[in-house]
Formats: sequence, structure tokens, C-alpha cells
Amino acid sequence: MKQSPPPFTTGPAAWIGSKPPLLRFLNTCHAEFAPETSGAVADYIPELGKADPDHFGISLATLDGHVYEVGDTQIPFTIQSMSKPFVFALALDTLGAERVESVIGVEPSGDPFNSIRLNAENHPFNPMVNAGAIACSGLIHEAKGDAAFEYIRQALGRFAGRDLDVDDAVYASESTTGDRNRAIGYLLRTNAVIRDNVAAVLEVYFRQCAILVTARDIAVMAATLANRGINPVTGEQVMSAYAISRTLSVMTSSGMYDYAGEWIYRIGIPAKSGVGGGILAALPARLGLGSYSPRLDKHGNSVRGIKVCEALSAHYDLHMLNRSDDARNSIIADYNIGNSPSRRVRRAQEQSILAAHHQDVRVIELVGTLSFSNVDYVSRQLAAKPRPQLVIFDLRRVTAMTRAGARLLAEEFRELAAHHVTVILSGIRRSSPDWKMIADWTEGLTNIRNYYLLDAAIEWAEDQVVYRYGGAIDFFEATDLSEQSLLAGLTDEELTDLASLAAIKSYQASEKIIATGEPATSLFFLRSGVVHVTLPDGIRLATLTAGMPFGEMALLEPRRSADVFADMAATAYEIPLRDFERFRKQHPRAGERIMRNLAQLLADRLILANAKLNLLTSG
Ligand code: GLN
Repeated sequence: MKQSPPPFTTGPAAWIGSKPPLLRFLNTCHAEFAPETSGAVADYIPELGKADPDHFGISLATLDGHVYEVGDTQIPFTIQSMSKPFVFALALDTLGAERVESVIGVEPSGDPFNSIRLNAENHPFNPMVNAGAIACSGLIHEAKGDAAFEYIRQALGRFAGRDLDVDDAVYASESTTGDRNRAIGYLLRTNAVIRDNVAAVLEVYFRQCAILVTARDIAVMAATLANRGINPVTGEQVMSAYAISRTLSVMTSSGMYDYAGEWIYRIGIPAKSGVGGGILAALPARLGLGSYSPRLDKHGNSVRGIKVCEALSAHYDLHMLNRSDDARNSIIADYNIGNSPSRRVRRAQEQSILAAHHQDVRVIELVGTLSFSNVDYVSRQLAAKPRPQLVIFDLRRVTAMTRAGARLLAEEFRELAAHHVTVILSGIRRSSPDWKMIADWTEGLTNIRNYYLLDAAIEWAEDQVVYRYGGAIDFFEATDLSEQSLLAGLTDEELTDLASLAAIKSYQASEKIIATGEPATSLFFLRSGVVHVTLPDGIRLATLTAGMPFGEMALLEPRRSADVFADMAATAYEIPLRDFERFRKQHPRAGERIMRNLAQLLADRLILANAKLNLLTSG
């Protein structure tokens, strides 16, 4: 008779609405493999023989810290050999790789876990078999003496994200029957792999194997391995990235003893099993899996646990060597400033310089993860076109950066510096870890700028181009109304009449000139200095210099729709709206000319806005 599936169980948060498909899948696995009763509970350690053979729990921890649980995921059992990877990582970080690697090999032995065979140098083959694991416990004992076991227990607790207990009965049971491991211990001492008290080292080893975990703990511990040593639930960096990657290496080649080759061939996920019935599988950058089911096959691996791993790997195609990625997806937009200038409204002279030299500023907007291949692709895209004078890399949609990606990017910056190209980064904060990585590798380079807003980066780049081609701007110099774009085409007489209506106003840097929501009762013509227009939420709409109107929407709308601030000391001509209306009646031709200029101004803004949108949507 087919067993009915167990109820769905979940992590700490109850599901609202539908069930995630991954939880459904794990539940299906549980239902499908629960009837599997082949294999036998380990009893060479007598106390282990008391486990309930029907217990079956599956837990999967994601790298964003969610834990799925199905079945008996809260039943404690002893960690046994699944302690080996963690104690190896701990030894690497505690004693240094050189010391550890000088006495423990990293080759698969092809032997069972309890084999009493050493390699040609009389060292353990690897840290995943008993000989290597006992050697690791010996190293920790060498460094920490009597505190060794407590040191290990606490380290494993950091991987699990909680304090872990010990099953004293299982410990005592193994200690009284563990002569085979004692034989290995003494063999290690004659070969100087263990230097001090063998008996004490073995007690540390037996105790570490008797640490109590649940399937959930194992999933979180595995996820920490898959996450470069950062526990995704607690956020703690538990071990160094070096120790973690080397641990995963030996799990890959030797984690499943004499089944290791077949395991990695079929399932392709670094894993470790324990005779207590646990299997731990850590797929780097993806997930951690913990399963518990005490019936073991002839290699000492949990029968149902293997089936769960097989099903997960096959169903979602998770074999770690079955991967591809398209680096070309990393560039979301690539353009020069010709069709996407900054929001700074430029004077005619600046406009003509920028129109002639817009090819000098290239903007590359990136998205997603900046990996080795992504950055390589970007560097080739850059090289494929004539070299610009300035390149803006917009990173605001970059969600992650690998070390390889950051390194290549830094090398690209050096390459650009060698060709006197200025690099401007936007969308990355100086406080971010990604920036730190880049900064470390670009020390000494003076051609890198950082503006958080892309628009500010483009504006700065435009200024460089304007200066380079002789368009130096004296912001303090006062201009008169005849230089106003909105008033183009007016006669001298009309301008003189208009000037008689204007009051000259002065503003200090950062003074608010116009506030959103106020009645719009006047228009302004910027006479000197720089002002900017922003929406109340802080989005900058435009930066204006002398010769440009602001508050001109008063001609169309009764209330101010944006704020205007002075960027530096500024002066403006202010004309009350009612005076302006009177002027329009007296000079109908000039009035019509101004309204036509206004329509042109609005049309230009719209065309620009459309072009910017198009850049992002046309891929
Ligand atoms: N404590 C067990 C032993 O040394 C661990 C073995 C295992 O889990 N494979 O025999």
C-alpha cells in the first residue's frame, strides 16, 4: 500500500497563499522515497543501532536564508562523518593551509571510510576518510589542547547557526568499541602525523562524531559551504573562502568514500555522508541540502538520502559541471551622449561643441552579475569601436560582482588609463564591498571618477568635453535678456520693454527659489550662475545655466510642479506673470514668438525623454 504523503511543513514563516514549487518537489520526493526500506541501520557503533529506521527528513536551505523542511527535519541524530568537512575547514583556518596540507593528502583513496591504509608518504589520503579526519582532530588538539573539542563544537554551531549538543551515549558507545579508529590513530602517530596524545585525539574525534544535528541544521551547514563560508541565515562569515573552497574540493573527490567517483558523475553536487544516516550536499552559489534517513547501503551512505539527491539533481539539471552563461546579457545599453545628454540645459556654444564631439563620451549600462566572462565581453565591446575620451560605466543595475569580474574590470581601467581615457563609474557607492574590491586593484590610478547618479556622471563628462574644446564658461558673468533662448527672435525694442518689467534677484548657493505647489505667479530668466530643477522626491530634472528660463511653465499651469534650487550664487530676471500678460497684449507678435519658442523647448524635452526611454527598451 502506498503511504499517504506527509503534511507540508515549512520553515519558521507560514506560507501565505500558494506553495513554492520547490517545496512541492521536496514533498513529492519524500512521498516517493518513504516506501524505500532497503539498506540497514549502522550498528557497528551499538548505540547507532537504536535509531528509528523509518525516520525521514529533507531540508533545503537557499542562499538568501530560506529553509524548506519536509518530514522528520527536527529529529536529532549524530553528525558522524559529516563533521569531517567542517573540522577540515577549521584546521585550515586554525593552523594554516601549509601545516594541514603537509600532513593530509587530497587524493581520493577509493577505499571505504574506515580503511587503515595511508598513501605513499604515509599520510592519510584525504580528510574525508577516517584517517584524514582523525589527523585533522589531531591538528586541532595540537593547537587547542584540552579545549579542542569545545572549539570544534562551537565552530560547527556557527555553521548551523545554533549551539549544538552531544549525544553522550553514542560517544561512549563509539569510544568503547572504536578500536579500528584507535589502530588508525596509532598508525598516524608512528608516521608523525599525530604528534601528541593519541588517546586524547581519538576522544576528540569520537565526540565530534557524536554532535547532534537535525536535517535542517545540515541544510544550513551545507548552505554555508555553498555560500563561500557565510551562513545565509545568520549572515556570519564562519570560515575563510579559501578553507571553504578547499573543503568543497575534497568533498567532490572523496566525500562519498568508495562511491565518490560515481556520485560526482551521476549527481554532480559536492556531498558528505555520515553513518548516522545524514547526507549533506552543497551546490556552490545555489543551495544546501540536508537529509536524514538511517538505513545505509554497503558504502555507508543513506539509501533514501542518495535518492533525494539524485532526484533533485536530475529534475532541476543541477549537476555542477552542466552550466552555461551568456555574457552578452550583461550590457543593457551602450551609447554615446549624442542621443542621451545629461539633464543640464546647455547654451548654444556648448551645444555645438557637444554635437561635434558626442562620440567622445561612451556610456555602458551594465546589469546583473559582473563575472569573469561578463567583464571580458564588455572589454571587447569597448575595444570594438573607436576609443572614446571618457567612458561611463553605469553599475546601478549590477546586483553582484565576482572577484574575477572585479579584477578584470580593474585591469580594464588600467588599460584605459594607459590610453588616457577617463573612467567614470555611476550607480555604485563608495561604501560598497564591490567598490572596495575595485579600489584595491586600481590603487594609484588617477583617471577614475565616481558619481552616484548617472546623470551627474554624464554632466561631468560633458563639461570635460566642453572645456577640452575651448568652451570655457564663466558662470559668474551676467548675461542680458537678448541671450535668453525663450526670447529668441524678439526685437531690441521688445526686449527693452520686457526688461523694464523685470526685477533682478540674487540667490545664494543651495537657496530654494521655487517650491512645488506654490501658485505660479512669475517667470524667471537665469542671468548668471547655475540652478537645478528637481521633483519633490529628489529626482533632478534639469541643470540650467545663464540664458535659460525657469518657472516658465507658469505660462501654462497655475501651480509650480517642481522645486528650483541655486547650485551656486546665481542671479535671475523675475517677471510677474500679470506684467508679462500685459506685455503680450501690447506686443502680440513677440507674444506669439515666445509661445512658439516655449513649444519648441517642450518638444525638445519630449524628444530627449523618448530617446532615453528607447535606449533602455530597445535592448
Ligand atoms: N564515527 C564514525 C567512525 O569513525 C564515522 C564514520 C562515518 O560516518 N562514515 O566510524
